[in-house]
Amino acid sequence: MLNEETFPENLSEEFDRLVTPKATSEEAKIEFTLRPQTLADFVGQEQIKEPLKISIEAAKKRDEPIEHILLYGNPGLGKTTLANIIAKELGVNFKITAGPALEKVGDLAAILSNLEKGDILFIDEIHRLNKTIEEILYTAMEDYAIDIIVGKGPTARTLRMPLEKFTLIGATTKMSLLSGPLRDRFGHIYHLNFYETNEIGHIINRNAKLLETTIEEEAVKLIAERSRKTPRVANRLLKRVRDYAEVRHDGKIDKEIANNSLKMLNIDAFGLDDVDRKLLTSIIENFQGGPVGLNTLAAAIAEEMDTIETVYEPYLMQIGMLERTPRGRKATKQAYDHLNKKFNQTLL
Ligand code: ADP
Repeated sequence: MLNEETFPENLSEEFDRLVTPKATSEEAKIEFTLRPQTLADFVGQEQIKEPLKISIEAAKKRDEPIEHILLYGNPGLGKTTLANIIAKELGVNFKITAGPALEKVGDLAAILSNLEKGDILFIDEIHRLNKTIEEILYTAMEDYAIDIIVGKGPTARTLRMPLEKFTLIGATTKMSLLSGPLRDRFGHIYHLNFYETNEIGHIINRNAKLLETTIEEEAVKLIAERSRKTPRVANRLLKRVRDYAEVRHDGKIDKEIANNSLKMLNIDAFGLDDVDRKLLTSIIENFQGGPVGLNTLAAAIAEEMDTIETVYEPYLMQIGMLERTPRGRKATKQAYDHLNKKFNQTLL
């Protein structure tokens, strides 16, 4: 069991990738400082904030726990942050764990039986729960109880252990892997979208203040445009540019400094790094622009299928450089143009 103070995160194994939307261990702690603490400080995602505000108010008025909530969206878009804020706004405890961390029934039973009325249990990567654990969760969510089997064979009997009324907040990057029965037990399902560039700019400005760094508006815009519409990436780029500004200059960030430091880091005008470019180049050069199957592509560029699907592709599709078709992945004309490759319409 983890708690808020242990800075838990969906830690990435790709430590060397600057624009990965997953958190690296070194930055989990600093992310904690930059994390907005109230709904008012949480930028964007208006489609979620309004209904959430109402549910929070209603739950407070009735002095009842808020219904179970499922948050889904790409890594780094703010699921953990939002869950934390909900707990703060309600004034309840926030407990955090992750699907892969819950291996035994006893692990989950221990967590659930320690929850107090109204507490929030956040399960990150909830699509990765094993079947037995998931079934325990059904009764816990629906009846606020867990059934424990005592004894073996003909003398075995079920003991029902009551739980306090709690709220489960589940987070997932892969809605399609969530089982129907689990999905149906959530009262609210919210999708976090990629952010607009001006919203990312807002986050960069706020965080520059928290980091006590002076930054010019044009530099904010430049970093925002290269942040893959993702707050976690924006925070990371801001910190790298700040390092550069402090080491090579007097610490103040202007457009030229931001541009030079991102150039040094090989991040282009669309926020693509070497891996994105390798992926698109491989589709164009090795597979005539596609369609190419995910497993073939993964083998060609030596990356895991899951990483390609959850980390690289969503953003490349969002900016219109990649298409997913029933027959595989295709590079679009924008990708050809961006990589300065000749686009041959007849091949597509
Ligand atoms: P997820 O759980 O979806 O992977 P996190 O909640 O850990 O993402 O967010 C990553 C970082 O991005 C946080 O530390 C936080 O500082 C920042 N962040 C995310 N969403 C927002 C937002 N809407 N406003 C301001 N900062 C945000």
